[in-house]
Parts: sequence; structure tokens; C-alpha cells
Amino acid sequence: MKLNERGLLVVLSGPSGVGKGTVRKALFASEGQNFTYSVSMTTRPKREGEIEGKDYFFVTEEEFKKKIEAGELLEYTYFCGNYYGTPLSQVEEALDSGKELILEIEVNGCRQVKEKMVDAVTIFIVPPNKDVLYQRLMRRGTESPEEVQKRISKANAEFGLAYQYDYIVVNDDVKNAADRIRAIIRAEHASTRRSIYKYYELLGDTGENKDEQ
Ligand code: 5GP
Repeated sequence: MKLNERGLLVVLSGPSGVGKGTVRKALFASEGQNFTYSVSMTTRPKREGEIEGKDYFFVTEEEFKKKIEAGELLEYTYFCGNYYGTPLSQVEEALDSGKELILEIEVNGCRQVKEKMVDAVTIFIVPPNKDVLYQRLMRRGTESPEEVQKRISKANAEFGLAYQYDYIVVNDDVKNAADRIRAIIRAEHASTRRSIYKYYELLGDTGENKDEQ
């Protein structure tokens, strides 16, 4: 019997351009992993190469607002002119089946997740320095210069929120960053607060007398 069968909800967050998506892909490429990616919903136009249902569920603003009203989103935000949100439907299903559910979202959404799901593990991915981030944002060429400027000022505001996270991982190298995240997930599973009741079950003990020894 494993001590903790329920999957973890892991939030990867951090400023736009920090490489969250690349680190997440490296994480999913690792052997023997048991991860499920939470595909977000967005009103942002599809970028070249993006696939419906894999990268995002692309919807209109009207459709998105209906989802909010129906309470079908775990969290949502308005980021640089577009809505982004996490559909609730896939969350419980993934966790109950023992999978680690990975969310890749910005800071505002992460705060909402932590309020609703106190057990979530939140990881803030940071660049080795700010210049690296600016260069990545300018070089990737997926946004207009105005859009890049918006994301840079947003990133500057987001740096100050790092203290709200459970962990900080520097993306100096994609493989290293993915390795650190895997180590965090392993350690979280072994944490006493997550496994203590399963442990007592295993011993056939309720844990009620634990203070008497
Ligand atoms: P992009 O337009 O570059 O794909 O995403 C912009 C920002 O929105 C990124 O920081 C990304 O992590 C974040 N994001 C993507 N999906 C969600 C979501 O479902 N909720 C929230 N709060 N942020 C999201």
C-alpha cells in the first residue's frame, strides 16, 4: 500500500517569458512520470502552431463569461487584454486518479487556487536575472512590441510576489529546473502532513494516542 495515493495539484507560475512552458514540457518528457496537464481556456487568439485542446481551449469572450457565471472555472484572470482560466472539470478527476495535475498559470490565478485548494503546491519559476527574461520576451517574436512592453511591466510587478509561493525554482537551465520540480513533488508526497493519516491506517492505528509516547 502506498502512503499517499491522491495526486498533487502543482501550480507552476512566474512571469511571462520565464520559460514555464519549456520547463513543463521537460517535466512531462521525463520517464515514469504520472503528470496530467491542465489545459486552460483563453480568449487570446491562437498563435501559429498552437493546437486546440492541447495548448488551450480557445473561446470567445462571451463563451468565457458564461463559464465564469456557471462556476465552471477553478480560477481565472484578465491578463494583458485576454481572459485565461482553469476548467474545473479536469481537476478532481485527475487528482482522484492519483495523477499529479500541473497548472501553468500567472500569479493572480495562483493566489485564487491557493485560497480554494490549500493543499496545492505552488512553485514560482524565476529567471537567473531580469535581462534574460527581457531578451527572451523580445526574441520569441510571438507578440507585438507593444505586447512585449506590457508583459515586461507585468513581469516587474510579479517579481515582488515571489514570497507568496511555497517554492522558488530558478530556470537557469531547463533540465535542472525540471529536476528541481520533480524533487519538490517527491518531497511533498513524503511530507508528514500529507501522509500521516495513511500511515496510521497502515499500522491499524488511529493515531489518537500519539502524544502519550
Ligand atoms: P500566453 O498568452 O503567453 O500563453 O499566457 C499568458 C500568461 O497567462 C502566462 O503567464 C500563462 O502562464 C498564463 N495563463 C495561461 N493559462 C492560464 C490560466 O488558466 N489561468 C491563469 N490565471 N493564467 C494562465
